[in-house]
Amino acid sequence: MKTEQVIENLSIRFPHEPEYIQAVTEVLHSIEPVYNQHPEFEAANLIERLCIPDRIFSFRVTWTDDKGQVQTNMGYRIQHNNAIGPYKGGIRFHASVNLSILKFLAFEQTFKNALTTLPMGGAKGGSDFSPRGKSNAEVMRFCQAFMTELWRNIGADTDVPAGDIGVGGREVGFLYGMYKKLARENTGTLTGKGLEFGGSLIRPEATGYGNVYFLKHMLGTRNLELKGKVVAVSGAGNVAQYTVEKLIQEGAKVVTLSDSDGYIYDPDGIDREKLDYIMELKNLYRGRIWEYAEKYGVKYVPGARPWGERCDIAMPSATQNEISAEEAQILVDNGCIAVSEGANMPSTPEAIKIFQSNGLLYAPGKASNAGGVSVSGLEMSQNAMKLSWTAEEVDQKLQRIMADIHAQCQKYGKRQDGTTDYVMGANISGFMKVARAMMAQGIL
Ligand code: NDP
Repeated sequence: MKTEQVIENLSIRFPHEPEYIQAVTEVLHSIEPVYNQHPEFEAANLIERLCIPDRIFSFRVTWTDDKGQVQTNMGYRIQHNNAIGPYKGGIRFHASVNLSILKFLAFEQTFKNALTTLPMGGAKGGSDFSPRGKSNAEVMRFCQAFMTELWRNIGADTDVPAGDIGVGGREVGFLYGMYKKLARENTGTLTGKGLEFGGSLIRPEATGYGNVYFLKHMLGTRNLELKGKVVAVSGAGNVAQYTVEKLIQEGAKVVTLSDSDGYIYDPDGIDREKLDYIMELKNLYRGRIWEYAEKYGVKYVPGARPWGERCDIAMPSATQNEISAEEAQILVDNGCIAVSEGANMPSTPEAIKIFQSNGLLYAPGKASNAGGVSVSGLEMSQNAMKLSWTAEEVDQKLQRIMADIHAQCQKYGKRQDGTTDYVMGANISGFMKVARAMMAQGIL
């Protein structure tokens, strides 16, 4: 494979898709050495078939706001690759959503899902609709209109959506309700459902908990403990909240959280009571993180991200490209030893280089945040069997899967000095599984 040429060709064919090209570039550079050991891959043009999504649906979503105004948004579903199982990936509702962002997410999801050890292909979907500032009724009408367009293209054995930014339990409930009404079946086509209608215990917790489990394995390679470490977390949504919950349980001290308006710094650490307040603020009242600063009398920095604060560990859990090279350098200078990504692609390529060249333990999201989709996979299994597992059972399976992903990273990302390149490990391991499955199934 002539990597630079492939990337250039994709950039020409898909101009104006910087996030997609960024994600593809990282993976292609990682897999180049193993890819070149397999001439049969090149003969089957595996690389283009793996980079370009199987298909993309795009549609107009028409809905009526509370004032009676008719509104339109764009809706998308990217079915990227189903070589190892049904398409699987979340739905994002955010004003910034466009094809480039969803294509990068669907591409990443394909490798992440391969790492989970479960049979799931990769997909992603979403809309430029923002639930922020909308009433419950408006969110419901939007979700129903979105699903009216999407439902024909998904199904329990074909494509199983879930949540992502802006799509939590409330939105999944509305989406699933409409899906059932249209499809007239109850096979659990979405994951992240409420417990009363087929959801799995531990699914809300899974991404955050899984990231902490992964982090503990990374620290273990250097005989380091999580207990007592100071951690900077970004975001204040699903992933951030349960990351903080598990960190508190493990005896770490979380000093920051953020939203798209700014971040808070709490030098005493966020404890259980403060976390309960955040969950109520964000999940019930849909408030802003500055309200935490007012309530507890701590620092709030508007329009900034938390990476300037001193910490031992950083766990970015908001969105893509939220750690720049400058911020990465500040983290390093302040003595940060590990970065474990809860969000998808939160570190820019330059930031990753800085982490790796300074010897930090650095886990890319496709490995460290794979706990969420893993428990989604377990939700699919429970739905198919028409039964539910206990929280302990699901948590144990989640822990086993995160340990397995860590082991895969070590196996495929082993450096000469015995340390692990987690980017290389995750990319090669995920790629080899998908590649073998594609080769076995012929030219499609
Ligand atoms: P939520 O919508 O629950 O929370 C997102 C948080 O990030 C909010 O605090 C939000 O602030 C903030 N945020 C969103 N966009 C931006 C932005 N452009 N700039 C700054 N802050 C932003 O989403 P999740 O917690 O589910 O997802 C967070 C990340 O984790 C995403 O990258 C997602 O893809 C990834 N992920 C999620 C999984 C899941 O199971 N939910 C699984 C694996 C990965 P505000 O409220 O102001 O918008």
